[in-house]
Amino acid sequence: MGQPAASRFGTAINCIDGRVQEPVVKWLRERYYLDYVDAITEPGADKVLALGPAEEVARLREKARISIARHGSSVIAVVGHHECAASPGSREAHLAQIRQALHVVRLWGFATTVEGLWVNEAREVEVVEG
Ligand SMILES: [Zn+2]
Repeated sequence: MGQPAASRFGTAINCIDGRVQEPVVKWLRERYYLDYVDAITEPGADKVLALGPAEEVARLREKARISIARHGSSVIAVVGHHECAASPGSREAHLAQIRQALHVVRLWGFATTVEGLWVNEAREVEVVEG
């Protein structure tokens, strides 16, 4: 019989917005065959990661570190979304911030995959290339 396989975790650094949690969790579970997605939320998370403040970015990094160290998370997703109350910029502005956020998260140096995701007006998940 053997040991049951360990649960597979990912990590989403997402907005607090209740409309975007489920699409991101579903997308990550399907794409990476995950059992669970740890939730790190921050209003306008893509903007914060891209532009700071640095203390907030450090807190987000520490939360991601716990998810990776304790749950063995294999992927970190950085998420921005349509109609963000905390960051009411255009789609193009968000995509630029997501790319910058990807750069920041990759510099954290964790041995995980890093994905940039955009949740569009239809609440569909789109991949943003770094
Ligand atoms: Zn938002």
